[in-house]
Amino acid sequence: MAAINTHYGELQDSYLFYNIAQKISAYLADHPGAKLYRMGIGDVSLPLAPAVIEALHKAVDDQAAKSSFHGYMPECGDPVLRKTIAEHYARRSISLDPEEVFVSSGASDELGDILDLFARPGSSLVMEPAYPAYVDANVMAGRKLIRLPAGDHNGFLPAPCPEAATDILYICSPNNPTGAVFNYEQLKAWVDFANENGSVILFDAAYEAFIEEETLPRSIFEIEGARTCAIEICSLSKTAGFTGTRLGYTVIPKTLERDGMNLNAMWVRNRTTKTNGVSYIIQKGAAAVFTEEGQRQIKENIAVYKKNAAVLTEALDSLGIWYTGGKNAPYIWMKCPEGMGSWAFFDLLLNKIQVIGTPGAGFGACGEGYLRFSTFGDPEDTKEAAARIKALLRTVSGT
Ligand code: PLP
Repeated sequence: MAAINTHYGELQDSYLFYNIAQKISAYLADHPGAKLYRMGIGDVSLPLAPAVIEALHKAVDDQAAKSSFHGYMPECGDPVLRKTIAEHYARRSISLDPEEVFVSSGASDELGDILDLFARPGSSLVMEPAYPAYVDANVMAGRKLIRLPAGDHNGFLPAPCPEAATDILYICSPNNPTGAVFNYEQLKAWVDFANENGSVILFDAAYEAFIEEETLPRSIFEIEGARTCAIEICSLSKTAGFTGTRLGYTVIPKTLERDGMNLNAMWVRNRTTKTNGVSYIIQKGAAAVFTEEGQRQIKENIAVYKKNAAVLTEALDSLGIWYTGGKNAPYIWMKCPEGMGSWAFFDLLLNKIQVIGTPGAGFGACGEGYLRFSTFGDPEDTKEAAARIKALLRTVSGT
């Protein structure tokens, strides 16, 4: 009989989005046609930038003519796109060799696949509340998971501690779900810790484009010492609306070595074995994101989401509610009022004002008592949701 990976049996069922869907169906069954204000969704709502659409159309036409047709693309990415991305980093004073940039089909794929570089079982540190894929990918790989709880005492930005001495350190900044962002000194502490312990940081920068404060790092490679301990995983999903189009990139410095092995060279070997690259058309569309016009257009879309964030945070500020995120991230992580649990507060919002958030308890035990709002929704719906939250919570807390 085939011996299979029984670690799949250790995965916890995630009831978070299933439970939310069940509660919404039940509400709609009792209130047919009710209008709901969906502030829970992590997907973008605005279309791709015109410059991207134009580049995609042109690339489709290229594929129609023998003279411009492209078959398999290089496994690690189109060299032109790799160079374009390296130049994008250079504009932020980060010097990369284009061969340190790997084009991918998105951050999720990379976050799972990259575990191939590490010996098994091995250990990984996940800061909770966490993006659920970190936990599940490690369980599937049979890795030992150390969960580092974060909380309002540290602004959901935990510092290194002895238990964190693991092979892999996941850091997500700006964070999903908390919207919290590490500053230079906080990240430097993690980089120093990783270099001292021989750990490798997997830095998830999926939301870097939402950082507006100039002093906050958008890349781990802004931190001195990161080139010997970090891998950065990026995505155009939220930056440029590529959730359904699919393109990301991963940076592995050529200076990253462990056990006498070079991780950049290993990843080249991995990619050339396990993928046949990202489609020509999508890579052409992605290249348009990095043009001056593309950058201006994606920033216009991000500005819409940021306006949503401002509308929601103004409401919370006026109520004196504690939260993280919103300013440099598309998520707002609020403390539920009056010590309510995440699900009780979710129910209250749904039943009283038809606003839907995401219960914090779904992102790990220390998320209990919090709720996540996404700012990717419709601006008019967001305004109405904020007004309803304000009116409701004034009555709940008596302010
Ligand atoms: N990392 C984080 C923290 C995310 O929130 C998401 C998506 O929501 C991803 C990675 C996945 O990004 P992608 O669409 O590129 O797979």
